[in-house]
Formats: sequence, structure tokens, C-alpha cells
Amino acid sequence: MRYISTRGKAPALSFSDVLLTGLAEDGGLYLPETWPSFSLSEWQDMRGLPYPELAARIMTPFVGGDIAPATLRDLCEKAYAGFDHPAIVPLTQVEDGLFVQELFHGPTLAFKDMAMQLLGQLFEHVLTERNSHVTIVGATSGDTGSAAIEACRGRERLSVVILHPKDRTSEVQRRQMTTVLEPNVTNLAVEGTFDDCQDLVKALFADMPFRKEMHLSAVNSINWARIAAQIPYYAYAALNFGAPEREVSFAVPTGNFGNILAAWAARKMGLPVRHLCVGSNRNDILTRFLNANDMTMKSVMPSLSPSMDIQVSSNFERLLFELLGRDAEACARIMTGFRTTGHMDVPAEAWEAARTLFSGLALDDAETEAEIKSLHDRSGYLADPHSAIGIAAGRRFRQAGVPMVAMATAHPAKFPDAMVAATGIRPALPAHLADLYSREERYRTVSATAGAVKDAVRAAVLSNA
Ligand SMILES: *Cc1c(COP(=O)(O)O)cnc(C)c1O
Repeated sequence: MRYISTRGKAPALSFSDVLLTGLAEDGGLYLPETWPSFSLSEWQDMRGLPYPELAARIMTPFVGGDIAPATLRDLCEKAYAGFDHPAIVPLTQVEDGLFVQELFHGPTLAFKDMAMQLLGQLFEHVLTERNSHVTIVGATSGDTGSAAIEACRGRERLSVVILHPKDRTSEVQRRQMTTVLEPNVTNLAVEGTFDDCQDLVKALFADMPFRKEMHLSAVNSINWARIAAQIPYYAYAALNFGAPEREVSFAVPTGNFGNILAAWAARKMGLPVRHLCVGSNRNDILTRFLNANDMTMKSVMPSLSPSMDIQVSSNFERLLFELLGRDAEACARIMTGFRTTGHMDVPAEAWEAARTLFSGLALDDAETEAEIKSLHDRSGYLADPHSAIGIAAGRRFRQAGVPMVAMATAHPAKFPDAMVAATGIRPALPAHLADLYSREERYRTVSATAGAVKDAVRAAVLSNA
């Protein structure tokens, strides 16, 4: 299996190279050269498999011979061994025809663990084979950083440096990162905003000599391996509801479009997915696009669902490339135009094609809070603000006879203040995090300059050598 860039000007790469590279050299995103698919009987054979084995089966064609099947199975076993629910991705019914799939049973209580735990294993395996080492550098406003740190902690061939905006993440989110004391983990509290952190990471990656010297690597949501590792839970849900013979629909609280893109990929691989529903908060660029072909950037506004406070959904480029019939030149032109004008000029046919499959619903904070409360009153189910938005979108677009599965992307204990405000209930942290507030924290405060961050990265890599 080879991977090609959505902008057509980067070399085709293997799975392992795409894993280590992330963004393509031409600024595009990698996609499989051809989409693998399974036959009816292959899907039927996957029914009832334990989650790690299902994940290995679905990842196999994407890995394309880079990793032996038995090894891949072993890596999947290890990736999900630490989850605190035997089903890994349990399904719960909340209403007639409306189900929730919980993706937050991993170590950091958010769906990022589903992919990141497997990526940690894949990185370690590939780097051991190549006798090599990388330094993962990333910026976080909350969930991605802790998921990356948990996936990399204690791994010899990985150093991980995560930048977070000082005093601007929630306390749970900060402590999930800063209480990890393994020597290969460095937390930098940047005196600036999340945007400053992202710009600093970009500046580090743009400095080619530094990038090479430090073997920098990224695990943000444009990394193809993350998308691939998210496909199995859509298959798990679909098979549970009678696929490949019966249809299912999904609703996904969406920010960077990575999670829902995996649902789209599951459909591409042969699962009968009827409808894909995007849930947005007040940062509603995707919903505006789906409703009126209005993909226009606005400034990011804070909300109760901070992991969806995004104005540019970077993974949308992958869908755009497909909607354009894989015309890389057109894709590059439209994306460049978007960067310069703030408006994405999506051709009408491509927009109409998107609308036959996708719908969008946006909730502001008051509506999100009302959804959390009414869902809890009616069904007893406690959904965090992100999950509640997905559930609301699922209810809105549910069709008779087709099960609608809404993705629950974070544990409610991750957002205690929002839960108390909506329901009066303060959800308890799971046992493995119960002492989070009394653990020792370690982080370095740095000014928001590339020089200061480079010094800190260099020191981190040296101390871990
Ligand atoms: C990252 C995240 C999302 C958004 O997922 P995308 O793949 O960026 O669309 C939604 N909810 C939670 C809790 C997240 O951490």
C-alpha cells in the first residue's frame, strides 16, 4: 500500500514513512493510493471479534506489508490492554433508535486515546526496526497533548515535548500532562495562547536543520495513521447493528474532521453507512458549509467543548480531494485560496455530493447545557459537552429503521464545571485518576519565542539520550 498527497507534489510513501512523516512535503495530507475494501463475507467473519483483533484486521490493508500480521495483532492487543471497559468501545441505547458509543475508556478519558495508544505502539515498533529515535513535538489546548504523552511515556525511542498555553487549559487537562514524570516527557508551559503554541511548533518544523538534528515528528490529527486507527470502532458499531446486511448512521462531535473522516472511510471500505452527522459548537464552519456551501473562516470563540474550538478543520482537505474526484491540482488551488482569502471555493457539484451523505447541526453553549440536562433527565445518561453535541445531532437527523450511533468523545469527569452547571452532578474521576489532584507536577515555563522553545527541546532530547 502506497500513500499519495492531496496536493499531488510529494513522493508516494509507505505506511511506516507516512506514520513518521505526518504532513506531506507539498503541504498536503496523505491518503491511500487506492481504498481497500472488504467483501460481504469478510465483514461477516469480523462480527463478534474482540476489539483489538477487529482493529488489526481493519488496519492490515493500510499497513500493507510493513508490519507482519501477527505483530500487528500483538500491537493492537497491547494498545487497548489498559482500557477500563472490557468492550473497549461499549454501545449504550439512550433513546428510541439512538445509541451512544463511548470512546473515552482509555487512559486520558477522551477519544484521542483510541488512535494515540496504537500510534505509540506503532512508533516504538517501526523505530526499533530502524534502530532510530524521534522527538515528538506538539501543541495542545487540552486533549491531544495528554493522549500523546500517555502513548509515549517511558518509550526509549521517543522523546515527547508538549507545549500548552500557561494557565489556559483546564486543571484536569493540565494535570493529566504535567504529572507524568518519565524522563522522556517534557511539558512546556508557554507564556502565550494556544495559537502561539501552534505557531511555535510550526516554526520548529520549518527550521529544516533543527528538524533533522532533533528528528522531529508530529502526531497531530493530520497524521494518516491516526485516521486509520479510528476506522475500527465504526466497524465495531456497524457490525453490531447488523452490517454488512443492515444500514447504520453516525453522529460525530467534530473539530478537525478527523473522527468523522474515519466514519467516511469505513463506508468507503464497504460498510453500509447511510448518513454522517457533524455536530459543531458555536465555531460552526462545517455546519455553515453543509447548510449553505459557506466555508468561511471566522475567529475562534471559546465554548464548553474546547476540543472543537477550531476554525479550520484540517482533515476536511482529505474529503475535498475525494469530492473533487482526486484532482490534486484543483485541491491545491482551493486550499491555497482558502488560506489567502479565508473562503473555500468548493465547486457546487462537490458540495452537493457532500450533502447527500453529510448533515451538520451547531449548538451554542446554552443549547449544549440544555441538551446535557434534558438527556440526563430523560435517560439518566451523563454526556460531556462534546458528546452531548453529537447526541443532539444524531437525534436531529435520525431516520426510522436505521440505528443512529452518536460518538461519546470524552468522559464527563473531564469537564466537571460544565456538568455541575447543567445537572448539579460532579462526576467522579475513574479510579486510575482519583488522586490526580494530589500528584506531583513537573513542567517548564518558557517565553513564547522559537529560541526559548528550541533550547528546551534540545535540553529534553539530550537529557533523554
Ligand atoms: C479532538 C476531540 C473532538 C474533535 O475531534 P476531531 O477529530 O478533531 O473532529 C471532539 N471531542 C473531543 C472530546 C475531542 O478530544
